[in-house]
Amino acid sequence: MDERDTPVLDFDLRIRLGDFALDASGKFSNGITAVFGPSGAGKSTLLACLAGMVTPDDGYVRFDGETIFSSTGRVRRPPQSFRTAMVFQDGMLFPHKTVRQNIEYGYRLTPPDLRVIDPDELCRFLQIQGLLNRFPDTLSGGERQRVALARGVATSPRLLLLDEPVASLDIRLRNEVVSYLKQVHERYGIPMVYVSHSLSDVMALARFALVLDQGRVKSFGPVVDLVAEVASTTRIGRDDIDNLYVGTVTESGAIRIGDIDVVAHVGDYQPGQRVTASISASDIMLALQRPDAISARNILRGTVQRVETGEYAAFAFVDAGPEFVVELTSDAVETLNLKKDVDVYVLFKSSSITITAG
Ligand code: ADP
Repeated sequence: MDERDTPVLDFDLRIRLGDFALDASGKFSNGITAVFGPSGAGKSTLLACLAGMVTPDDGYVRFDGETIFSSTGRVRRPPQSFRTAMVFQDGMLFPHKTVRQNIEYGYRLTPPDLRVIDPDELCRFLQIQGLLNRFPDTLSGGERQRVALARGVATSPRLLLLDEPVASLDIRLRNEVVSYLKQVHERYGIPMVYVSHSLSDVMALARFALVLDQGRVKSFGPVVDLVAEVASTTRIGRDDIDNLYVGTVTESGAIRIGDIDVVAHVGDYQPGQRVTASISASDIMLALQRPDAISARNILRGTVQRVETGEYAAFAFVDAGPEFVVELTSDAVETLNLKKDVDVYVLFKSSSITITAG
């Protein structure tokens, strides 16, 4: 069944803020949906309307089939009545409360009979048990965001709204938090709306994306279609696209991702440990024949699923066990005659892989 058949959010709304006007509609499924677009496009404003924190001038918002805002029906339900949780870019933790107190605050907001997520188990899952007695200003950016996520999830929300939750983090921590977000979704099944201006994060997390530009919906569809759009325009952000995988360190010091082993520099990570491995789309090469003499330690067989060629970039999606997104030039696409169902070798160096915990 198409994810979009069962909308968690169904909205059609308009709001004017000074010179800025937002006019957006969409139907979001119970998966992870991204709201993507450049700075100033109206992403945060849309999220605030969906959260019930800002009242649109006109239109409606339905949450799980229930009207929470309607200008014609004169409905305006308070945000706490439909149990959504928000996570912001800077975490917004209470500075005078410890990590434990921040998370307990979230937990206690929820009536006892609706508390389905155990905070102790959640803290173990997000690997923050060691931080419980610390104050937010002693935490690293990545730890703060994990705690902010825990505080939101501890409320057992029916929907998690995330407003650029990794934007202020460096690339390693960003990947770590994105990976935790994905795992939280898989484990607890909470639908998420993920606001971002980073294609990399959107590709790692979401299956559907709504693209906003200057207050208008430019497109809404599968994330893979978004790549084609980005390849052909500079207006929406094309940052470094990362492939992100959760794996386990093997006895021989490789990383097992699904059925394949990837050679990487695992450093102090121990066999059996869960890690996130990331590799930039531009650090991967494709070849039609298996190369004999090459320094790259990783040579995987794969099949091209899809190729998107634009004026500014080209991307190939290759199934090699996990799926890899590979950035290449349009010349390379032509020279190799890359298209769907072509068998290729996926090549990358062990040093191109960045490993983080979790
Ligand atoms: P994004 O999240 O995509 O960066 P925002 O939703 O934060 O975009 O902002 C969209 C536009 O609305 C911006 O031009 C911003 O300056 C404007 N804006 C946001 N809030 C207000 C407000 N309360 N009053 C006037 N303008 C606002």
